[in-house]
Amino acid sequence: MGIRLFFGAVILYGLVSAAGFLMKTIPVPYVYVLAGVGAAGIIYYAAREKITTYHTITIGILVNCIVQLTGGTISPLFSGYLLLLPVVGYKAADVQYWTVGVALCCLEISSAFLNNNLNIMPLVFLVTGVIVVGVITNRRSGYVAFIKKSLTKYESRDKFYGPARFDPERIITNQRDIDKHPAIERPLLYFVKLLHEFFRGYSTVIFSRYHDSLTLIQGFSESELYRPGVVVDLSSGIYRQIIATKKTLLITEFVQNPVELGYYTGEIKIASVMIAPIVIVNEVEGIMVIDRKAGAFTEKEKVQFIEAAKTAGLLLALLRLYEQKSDEAKYLKFINEHIEEMHRHKELDLEKILRDAVRSFRAVLNCNDVTIASVDELNESGEVLVSTYINEHTRFSLDDGLVGIVARNRNFIIKEDLSRGSVTVFKKGETSRNLSFIGVPIHLEDELLGVVWCEDHRRSKFNEHSAGAVKILASQLYFAWQRAVLHKHVKELSERDGLTGLYNHRFFQETLETEIKRKRELVLIMFDIDHFKKINDQYGHQSGDRVLAFIGNLVLNTGIAARYGGEEFVVILPRCSLKKGIDQAVRIKDHILKSDVKINHGRIKFTVSIGVAYYPGDAQTREELIEKADRALYTAKKEGRNKIILAKTMGEYHKQ
Ligand code: GH3
Ligand code: MG
Ligand code: MG
Repeated sequence: MGIRLFFGAVILYGLVSAAGFLMKTIPVPYVYVLAGVGAAGIIYYAAREKITTYHTITIGILVNCIVQLTGGTISPLFSGYLLLLPVVGYKAADVQYWTVGVALCCLEISSAFLNNNLNIMPLVFLVTGVIVVGVITNRRSGYVAFIKKSLTKYESRDKFYGPARFDPERIITNQRDIDKHPAIERPLLYFVKLLHEFFRGYSTVIFSRYHDSLTLIQGFSESELYRPGVVVDLSSGIYRQIIATKKTLLITEFVQNPVELGYYTGEIKIASVMIAPIVIVNEVEGIMVIDRKAGAFTEKEKVQFIEAAKTAGLLLALLRLYEQKSDEAKYLKFINEHIEEMHRHKELDLEKILRDAVRSFRAVLNCNDVTIASVDELNESGEVLVSTYINEHTRFSLDDGLVGIVARNRNFIIKEDLSRGSVTVFKKGETSRNLSFIGVPIHLEDELLGVVWCEDHRRSKFNEHSAGAVKILASQLYFAWQRAVLHKHVKELSERDGLTGLYNHRFFQETLETEIKRKRELVLIMFDIDHFKKINDQYGHQSGDRVLAFIGNLVLNTGIAARYGGEEFVVILPRCSLKKGIDQAVRIKDHILKSDVKINHGRIKFTVSIGVAYYPGDAQTREELIEKADRALYTAKKEGRNKIILAKTMGEYHKQ
C-alpha cells in the first residue's frame, strides 16, 4: 500500500470515527483497534523515512481528534500522544517537533478549560512527555548534525585537491522543480528528462564516478522505491563490468534483483535495462542507466542510447570543469581573505602576527599542525616561535632536518610520507606525529626571517597547489613580520640613549608621569658625576664617555634608569619604599666608590653625588618630585660631593 493511500485511509477513518462518535454509533473497541493499526502504520512508514512535514501535522491532528472524541484528558487513548511524540521527534526537524508538541499541549489545555474538566495529572503527564522526548531527540539530532558537519569537513578537505564532484544538496530529481533548478546541472537534468521520455523509461539515471564509487547525480523515476542521491560501491556488481569493458549493455530480460541497480530500495519488477558508460577522454567517468517495467529495449534503441551517452559525457565534462574552476576561484578568494586579515590592522606585535598567521596557514591548507620558526643563519640555528604542537623557544640546528634545508635553499619542500625512511623534520630526536609535510622559507630574496612548515596526519596531503598557497601567505607574512621588527627597532631608538644604553630624557619624563598617575609610592634617585669636567680635561673626552658608558651598564637593570642630561642620571624605583630606595642609592654610591674605569694608560676613579626624593612623601607631582631630587643633589654637591642627600630632611644620609 502506498503511503498516500495509507494516509488517505487514516484520514477517512478519523473522519468516520469522529462522525460516529458524535452520534455515539460506533462501538469503542473499534476505535482502539483502528487506532492501533494506524499507529503501527505510522511507525512502519516513519522507520522507512517516508514521513514528511504534512504527514507529521496530519498525524498530530488525527491523534488529537481521536483523543478528544474518546474523552480528552481522561481518554484511555491519551497516552497515545506519548507514542506519537518519539515518532515525530525521531524523524522530524527540531522546529517541527516543538511546533507539533507545543500545539498539542495548548490544544489539550484549552479544550480541558472549555469542557470544564481540568484534569491536571494527564496534562502534566503530556507536557512532561513533550519536554523529555524533545530534549532526548534534539540531542540526538544535534549529534547527527554534528556527524554530518564533520563529514562535510572531511569531504571538502579532499575536494579542494581532488577532481570535482557533485554537491548532493544541489541534486534535484523532482520533475516539478526542474525549472526552478538554479544550479549548473540544469542542462544535464533536462537531458535526463528528455531521455526518460524518449525511451519511455521507468527510471533513468546518471551516475558520476569518483574513484571507486558512483554517485547518482541526476535521475527520474516513476517508482516509489526510487532512491535519489545514492552512492554505489564499485568493488562489485553490474557496473564494475561496464567500467572494465567500456561497452554498453542491453538486457532484454532482466531477471536479477533490481536492488543491484543501486537506485531501488526494494524488490520491483523490471523487464529490461540498458547501461552505458559515459566516457570522457578514454576514461569511464560515469554510467547512464535506463530501465523499463514492461517491454524490452531494442537493438536500435541501444544504438541511440550509446549516442545519448556521448552527449551526457560532454555535459558531465563541462559540469566538472565548471565545478573545478569555481572551487579554484573560491580557494583564491579564501587565500585573499587571509592575506587581508594579515594586513588589516597593521598589527605591530610580532607574537600576535605569528599567532594569526598560524591560524591562516591552518585554515587555508586545512591541515593539523603549523609551526613558525625564526632562523639565525650566522649561528646556523633556528628557534620555534609559534607552533600548534612544538614547545615555543625550542632551538634546533639547521643541519638537523627538512626545515634547515628549506632555510638554506630558500625553497619549499613537500614530503608525502614522513614515516618512510628516517626523515627528521626540524630537530634530531623529535619525531613528528604527522605524515605529510610542507615547508617554505619566509624571505624576500636573500633576506631570510624564518621558516613556516605545515604538517598533516594524512599521507600525501600537500601538492604543488598547496605550495602555491603557502608561498603566497609566507611572502605576505614576511612583510608583516618585517614591519613589526622595524617598528620595534624604531621604538627602541626613540626611547634609548645611544652612549649609555639607558632610557633618554623624554622617556624618563613620560614614564615618571605615568608612574605618578598610578598613585603608588616610588623613589626617584638623581645623581651626577663629581668633577666630571676634570676627568674630561685630564683623560680626554673619549675616556669621559667610557665613564658614562660604565655607569649606564651599572644601573641598566636597576628600576627604570635614564640619562637625564650630560653626566646626570636618574633612576625611578616604582612601588618602592623610601628605605629600600635609600639602600639602592647607597649601593650605587658605594659600588662607584670601589670601582674604577680602565682606560689606555691607567684607571679612572671617580665619585657621584646623589639626591633622593620620595613620592608621595616629598612631592605630589612629577615636576615637584624632580625639583626635590635636583635640590637634594645640589645640596650634596655643595656639602662636599660623594654624598647622598634625602629631599625629606635635606640632610645627608648616614648608614646606621
Ligand atoms: P660637579 O658636577 O662635581 O659640580 O662638577 P662637574 O665638572 O661634573 O660639573 P658639570 O656638571 O657642570 O660638568 C658637566 C660636564 O660634563 C660638562 C661637559 O663637558 C661634560 N659632558 C657632558 N656630556 C658629555 C658627554 O657626553 N661626554 C663627555 N665626555 N663629557 C660630557
Ligand atoms: Mg658633574
Ligand atoms: Mg652636571
